[in-house]
Amino acid sequence: MAMSKTTNTYNRQNWEDAEFPILCQTCLGDNPYIRMTKEKYGKECKICVRPFTVFRWCPGARMRFKKTEVCQTCSRLKNVCQTCLLDLEYGLPIQVRDAALKIKDDIPRSDVNKEYYVQNIDKEIGKIDATSPAGAVGKSAAASDLLMKLARTSPYYKRNRPHICSFWVKGECKRGEECPYRHEKPTDPDDPLADQNIKDRYYGTNDPVADKLMRRAAAMPKLEPPEDKSITTLYIGNLGDVLTEKQLRDHFYQYGEIRSVTMVPRQQCAFIQYTQRNAAEAAAERTFNKLILGGRRLTIKWGRSQGRQTVSAAEATREILEPVPGLPGALPPPPEAMGNNFFNLQATPGMMPPMMIPPPPVAPQFTMFPPQIAAATATAPIFPPGTAPIHYPSQDPSRMGASQGIGKPWPEE
Ligand SMILES: [Zn+2]
Ligand SMILES: [Zn+2]
Ligand SMILES: [Zn+2]
Repeated sequence: MAMSKTTNTYNRQNWEDAEFPILCQTCLGDNPYIRMTKEKYGKECKICVRPFTVFRWCPGARMRFKKTEVCQTCSRLKNVCQTCLLDLEYGLPIQVRDAALKIKDDIPRSDVNKEYYVQNIDKEIGKIDATSPAGAVGKSAAASDLLMKLARTSPYYKRNRPHICSFWVKGECKRGEECPYRHEKPTDPDDPLADQNIKDRYYGTNDPVADKLMRRAAAMPKLEPPEDKSITTLYIGNLGDVLTEKQLRDHFYQYGEIRSVTMVPRQQCAFIQYTQRNAAEAAAERTFNKLILGGRRLTIKWGRSQGRQTVSAAEATREILEPVPGLPGALPPPPEAMGNNFFNLQATPGMMPPMMIPPPPVAPQFTMFPPQIAAATATAPIFPPGTAPIHYPSQDPSRMGASQGIGKPWPEE
């Protein structure tokens, strides 16, 4: 085993002897029955240069073998995968995550200081459970918008493919089908992503992948609220089969009062209508491109015709009453004397409209019904349909119990 000069060879109790590596989902691969080899003190950590336990495994069919590159202390200090050095929670480079969370790295860079620092950290994190992050990351606050925009929601197994065959690129590979490397055109050799360096990535400086991601986040489109201020509905897409109405409500109620949630399971989407426009705007602003629910990144758009129809339909039933065919127009308001006599308890002939014969005394039990039903019931035996003039829609016996009669208001006083 090759060891650098700075390795603290006499202080072996600080060497890592782990039972299981700290890895991200992508590096582990899709095979749940993965087999690993474990080599105690197999290599130096590429960051702190102390010997650590190296694990090696194949993350799936036709994938390249992977191994852990940094020790567990270094991995936990940054909460990153021991192999790919991407953040364990968001799958993002350290530079992106630290910029988003405004974490300042206080790890010393000089070898002696670093070794002292790492040993102290080792003692400190030995007390807490063996998988939680340590250092500044362990203390960091909740997710930021930037992280939610860029976070990966599913493993990216393509990353585990074999490297490109350098012989094939030069036209010299003689292994053909047997060659374990990829026979593919390499990406542009001037591509800055081609020269990533593990220390830069760990310390979060000059990481070309991070720069690319940050630029992508800055260029992400914004969701403009529609001109029509009556639209208060948002379209929520990519729900899958798992997300429920309750989960949506639980998330979206924080932006304002929800009028309705309409699930469209066949399209795996939903429409959420707010009672207030500003609530809908807040929800759109804070969820567009960022919302991840149940491990799914949801699509957020403004509702269009759907929202308008709902609004206008609601207004139509509330305010504009369609005229009933075959009936005279609205009557003038009843005389003052009837003003407070809402249930028509002591109807007197003088108060009735001129063409109408006074109904028989209303039985007390009818007064328990809404007025139009009571009136219809009372007049039914006297005017069979079509034989007598009808003034109030509710006086039409054929309408008795008809649902459209229920919602009609009694003529206003
Ligand atoms: Zn290390
Ligand atoms: Zn990884
Ligand atoms: Zn080859």
